[in-house]
Amino acid sequence: AKETGKQDVAKTKLVVGADATFAPFEFTDPATGKYTGFDVELIQAICEEAGYELDFRSMGFDGLIAALQTNQIDAVISGMTITEDRKKIVNFSEPYYKSGLVVAVQEKNNQIKNFDELQGKKIAVQSGTTGALHAEKATSKDKITYFTSSDQAMLELKNGAVDAVVMDYPVTAYFIQQGNKDVKMVGEILSAEEYGIAVPKEKTETLEKINTALKTLKENGKYGEIYKKWFGEEP
Ligand code: GLN
Repeated sequence: AKETGKQDVAKTKLVVGADATFAPFEFTDPATGKYTGFDVELIQAICEEAGYELDFRSMGFDGLIAALQTNQIDAVISGMTITEDRKKIVNFSEPYYKSGLVVAVQEKNNQIKNFDELQGKKIAVQSGTTGALHAEKATSKDKITYFTSSDQAMLELKNGAVDAVVMDYPVTAYFIQQGNKDVKMVGEILSAEEYGIAVPKEKTETLEKINTALKTLKENGKYGEIYKKWFGEEP
């Protein structure tokens, strides 16, 4: 049935890619089987504001940029850090979340207390991430095990197959808080990072629409509402 008073205009589709194994940013809600999280709700709100119909697709993190470059997807929202290297091949929206990396070890580990003590240790990381890059600076490559998803890297740590994981702080904190008390974070949070929404270089209009919508949502309180829901505090 048609709603009266509303125009029946077909919306432009926005195909958005994410690696939906990155709670609390994008993951499958076990209760409903649907994608949920801060990024998911933010992109839903952005699409609503900008007049897009959202088509959300999950894929491995290390394939997201290639999917953008080959125009399989129009945008990425996936806890993706804005980096100089990535900026050479894709464009980013204004930052929407301040993040950083942290070292995680088993609760019973009293050897590794910070990032400097990772030298020669076995580390699990998620492929293609800033965490992987930092691990490569901290120890030799043959000591690093690469996984498609962050869950798998954490499982490797829980199983004791590696000594540490280098991963985004909010995701590690959420993982521990969800009942994984056999894991702890040590040392400082490394290097301030900011997440942005990535779009192909040539899609300047898409980027503009996303930025405008993001700005509106920050101003009208909707962004703050979603932020508070997922992080329990004001942005
Ligand atoms: N923020 C990290 C990066 O951009 C990890 C993102 C992720 O694993 N989804 O590399």
